[in-house]
Amino acid sequence: MSGFPSFEYRDNELYVESVPLSHIAKTFGTPCYVYSKKVITDAYQAFDTAFADNDHLICYSVKANANIAILNLLARLGCGFDIVSGGELQRVLKAGGDPGKIVFSGVGKNTEEMRLALTAKILCFNVESEAELNALNQIAAEMGKIASVSLRVNPDVDAKTHPYISTGLKENKFGIPIDDAERIYTTSQELTHIRFTGLDCHIGSQLTELGPFVQASDRILSLVSRIESKGIEIEHLDLGGGLGIRYHEEETPSIQEYVESLCTNISQLNKRILIEPGRALIGNAGLLLTRVEYLKQTPDKNFAIVDAAMNDLMRPALYDAYHEILPVIKNDINKETYQIVGPICETGDFLGHDRELNSTSGDILAVMSSGAYGMSMSSNYNTRPRVAEVMVDGDDVHLIRERETIDHLIATEKILP
Ligand SMILES: *Cc1c(COP(=O)(O)O)cnc(C)c1O
Repeated sequence: MSGFPSFEYRDNELYVESVPLSHIAKTFGTPCYVYSKKVITDAYQAFDTAFADNDHLICYSVKANANIAILNLLARLGCGFDIVSGGELQRVLKAGGDPGKIVFSGVGKNTEEMRLALTAKILCFNVESEAELNALNQIAAEMGKIASVSLRVNPDVDAKTHPYISTGLKENKFGIPIDDAERIYTTSQELTHIRFTGLDCHIGSQLTELGPFVQASDRILSLVSRIESKGIEIEHLDLGGGLGIRYHEEETPSIQEYVESLCTNISQLNKRILIEPGRALIGNAGLLLTRVEYLKQTPDKNFAIVDAAMNDLMRPALYDAYHEILPVIKNDINKETYQIVGPICETGDFLGHDRELNSTSGDILAVMSSGAYGMSMSSNYNTRPRVAEVMVDGDDVHLIRERETIDHLIATEKILP
C-alpha cells in the first residue's frame, strides 16, 4: 500500500483520506471514479519545490484527466496546462486557468483551434511540422497577431516504455526530426507572424528510468547552443512529461530525482524550464470503484464479473496495463484466483487477470492508480453511460461529475423522417 499514502486500510476497511470507500459506493453508486485532493496537491507541490530556485512552469497535461474540478484545483496551486485540442483549451479557461500558462501540443491543430488559442493569448504553440508552422503564421497574420512558438523536436531516444506510448523515436509521428530543427529555426525568420520563444520535446509516457530523459535533455541542450549561435534567442525549454508511476512492482524515480536530473545539465543555461507531467500528477490520486455483480465458474477459470468495464478504464484492454485491485472490505481467508472482467461483449474487456481475492456478489472493489488516462479515455461503448466522479477532501466528498444518463447519450441523435 506504500504507493498510496492517502488510500489505506483502517480496521480492514479501505479509506480515501478520512472517508471509507464503502460510504462513497453507497452514496454515489458504482462504478465511480474517486480522487484524493491531498494526493494531487502533494504531487504538484513535490514538482514545484523540486525546482527550487530554477525558473520553471509546470504545465499539467490535460489529456491525463480533464475534469474541470481537477483543472481548477491545479490552477489555484499556480499550475499551467499542456493542451492538445480546442476543447481542452475551453475546459482550462472555464476552470479558471491562466491563458498565459498554457502550451498547445499536438500534430494536428486545425484552423479553428489555432484561432481560439491566439485569441486567448496562450503562452506558446508547440509546433510539430513545417506545414503547421506555415499554417499558424498565416492564421496569425490574418488575425494581426504574433504566435509564440516552440518547435517540438524529436530527439530520437528510446523511452523504453510500451510502444503505444513511446513518442520520441524517429519512426514516431511526433515532432520534427532533431537534425531538421536547426534549419527550420534559422530559415523561418521570414515568417513574420511567428516568434520563436522556446524549444520542446516529449519522448513518451510511463518512463521508469531517468536515462532517456537525461539523453533527451542533452540533445536539446546542444541544439539550443547551435540555434542561439545563429542569433535566435530561446527563452524556455519544455522537456515534456512522461515520468512513470508505480502501478505494480515498478521502481520509479521520485519526482525530486526526476526534476533534479532534468535540471543538472539544463540549469546552467539560466532559462525557464517547462515540464508537462500528466500521469505523475494524477495517476495515483484516483481509483475506480466497482461492484461485483456475479461470480462465474468455468472448468478453466473463475470469473468475477464487475459493473465497470473497458469503456470506463481502457488501459488494461489497450496496453495490457496492470492495475492493482483491492477489496474495499478486506477478507484474507479462502482467497481464490479470479479473472476480473466487465459486462462488455469483448474478450479484451478485463480489468485484471489472475487476482487472489475472497469475493462474493455485491462486494466493492477498488481499481487502484486509475486517476490518469482512466476517465479521460472512457467511452460509451455498449451504450454505457460514463460514470460519476467524486473528489475527497479530508472528510468531505464532492461530486465533480454526475453519472451520465441514457438521455445524455442519445440527445444528439435523430431518426430519419
Ligand atoms: C501525453 C503528453 C504528456 C503527458 O504525459 P504523461 O506521461 O502523462 O506525463 C505531455 N506532453 C505531451 C505533448 C503529451 O502528448
